[in-house]
Amino acid sequence: MAGYIGKLLQVDLTSGAIGVQPLDPAFARPYIGASGLAARLYFDMTLARGLQAEPFSPHNPLLIMTGPLQGTTLPGSGRFSVCSRSPLTTFWGESNCGGDMGPFLKFAGFDGIVITGAAAVPSVLWIEDGHAELCPAAGLWGKDTYETADALGAAGGKGAKVFCIGPAGENLVRYAAILSDKKAAAGRTGMGAVMGSKKLKAIVVRGSGKVTIANPEPFKALRRAVQAKIHDNLPLQGFKSFGTAGSIYYNSLVGDIAARNWQQGTFDDSALLALDGTTLADTILTGSSACYACPVVCKREVEVTDGGVTRAKGAGPEYETIMGFGPMLMNSDLKATAAANELCNRLGLDTISCSATIAFATEATERGLLPSDLKWAETEPMLAMIGKIAQRTGPGDLLAEGVKRAAVRLGVAADADWVPHVKGSELPMHDPRCYYGVGLGYATSPRGANHNAANVYIELGSAIYPEMGLDGDLSSRRTEGKAFLSAMSQRLGCVVDALTLCFFDSWGYTLEEMCQALNCVAGFDYDVAELARSGERLWALKRSISNLLGATAADDRLPGRLLTPLADGPTAGSAPDLPAMLREFYEICDIDEKGRVSRERLESLGLGDVAALL
Ligand code: SF4
Repeated sequence: MAGYIGKLLQVDLTSGAIGVQPLDPAFARPYIGASGLAARLYFDMTLARGLQAEPFSPHNPLLIMTGPLQGTTLPGSGRFSVCSRSPLTTFWGESNCGGDMGPFLKFAGFDGIVITGAAAVPSVLWIEDGHAELCPAAGLWGKDTYETADALGAAGGKGAKVFCIGPAGENLVRYAAILSDKKAAAGRTGMGAVMGSKKLKAIVVRGSGKVTIANPEPFKALRRAVQAKIHDNLPLQGFKSFGTAGSIYYNSLVGDIAARNWQQGTFDDSALLALDGTTLADTILTGSSACYACPVVCKREVEVTDGGVTRAKGAGPEYETIMGFGPMLMNSDLKATAAANELCNRLGLDTISCSATIAFATEATERGLLPSDLKWAETEPMLAMIGKIAQRTGPGDLLAEGVKRAAVRLGVAADADWVPHVKGSELPMHDPRCYYGVGLGYATSPRGANHNAANVYIELGSAIYPEMGLDGDLSSRRTEGKAFLSAMSQRLGCVVDALTLCFFDSWGYTLEEMCQALNCVAGFDYDVAELARSGERLWALKRSISNLLGATAADDRLPGRLLTPLADGPTAGSAPDLPAMLREFYEICDIDEKGRVSRERLESLGLGDVAALL
């Protein structure tokens, strides 16, 4: 099996048993890898057996999966997926992570890790060149992710990669993240809390193997061609120079600004400039870094000191984090957003959900519903609240549950206009009142509001895919055509994810080149039609898993505040017509009134066994 290792590591934390399961070659081609393969494995391990494991049940599997391109030198092929039933949404959960962990897992001899059970004592999983063992996490429980990575990195020796949770995961904060070597995070949908529920503090990987490439010469030509295109891509060059936050000021000009818990679509010009990646480059930047095999190098490294105290040193804030701890909380202090980023990373929290939950809590405080010292634009209470959430102390215990559950406990309806979530997941920082297609993506994604499912860059025209019809007039504030755009871009997102390509690097590939990548590495004979079909299959499978876990058409929604036009700013008077877009989306995806993909469509995608359970 070129491209694949052909082996999955099985770990039962309850019994301590460790085994190796062959990767079924019949699964490799239709499900490709990463979250695609993970969805198939999750379905077979649970729902197909009549098991609906609660997110924190030992029976809920945690799947860490790579893909066929991973570990090669193809540009942007260093991402991998962590998947499980989400404790935040209770539906299908997946999180995409960069860094080096994915490639090194393959170098260590495994395509993925299938983790079940729960350990009696906090544990660390050590993996090295085909071998694995569980050890007590002596003295590490309670340590933050940087302390843990330093300790285990030193113990593991040169080349050891550390993937670990912090106190937030240990304390089952529903949006806890897993950190990879202090520089990348599997942030979304609470995978760190699932790992914490299994009392698995960390996974340490060392590997010296390599990935076999089926057709090396065309592979080299493809790599050169894609690298050249990435080098010449203007937005990606912008990311290289200024990080993802380099677009903050531009986004404000078109009205893509989420401020004050979505009450505003504008923020002071000078404040936005103070937060922009160009300012970051001139002030707190100390360097840049990249995930494995990535020529874009978008990651920022920063250092922030205050009165002789270091408040951030290392991985810097990205676009979502700056917007979340910036305008969403009415804060224009870049150094405070960098400090918030470091706190979230150390404690193991998703920066999107954490900042969005604090913004909701700030409004709840203002409304007299929540006793707290949170105030708009005040950074010290904001920073203190991050620690309280991770440790579940004071109001942090409530906010550790996420926006939806916190609202209900405060006596507010989960679907109240000002409670911003979709399927229980807090929203990323792109505004549906600016990009209607993004809003539809948030509403219909199987994992709740997610910016990789709702591809703003396709709607912006930064990325075009004529082979899937994604090249027409996609102007953002228009209902017509957005159902098609959202359906296709979600399918494309599933493919890019399964291939383990970074969304940014994927702009350097045509769909034909993605097929060539699979064919050169794995020896398949994929064409564009099959790739698009696989995208639809993966989306339909994830959607069906969420349906089987309780998601219905009623969950395909947006908060009322985001369906209400703003009075001023670039998007004044504009709001998406969600019912109209949903009707068309359901037709394109063959979804019934209960929100389920039809039996006929599932069967045509080779998912007859899934259809039989719906
Ligand atoms: S573009 Fe940025 S996030 Fe994507 S792989 Fe490269 S460094 Fe990582």
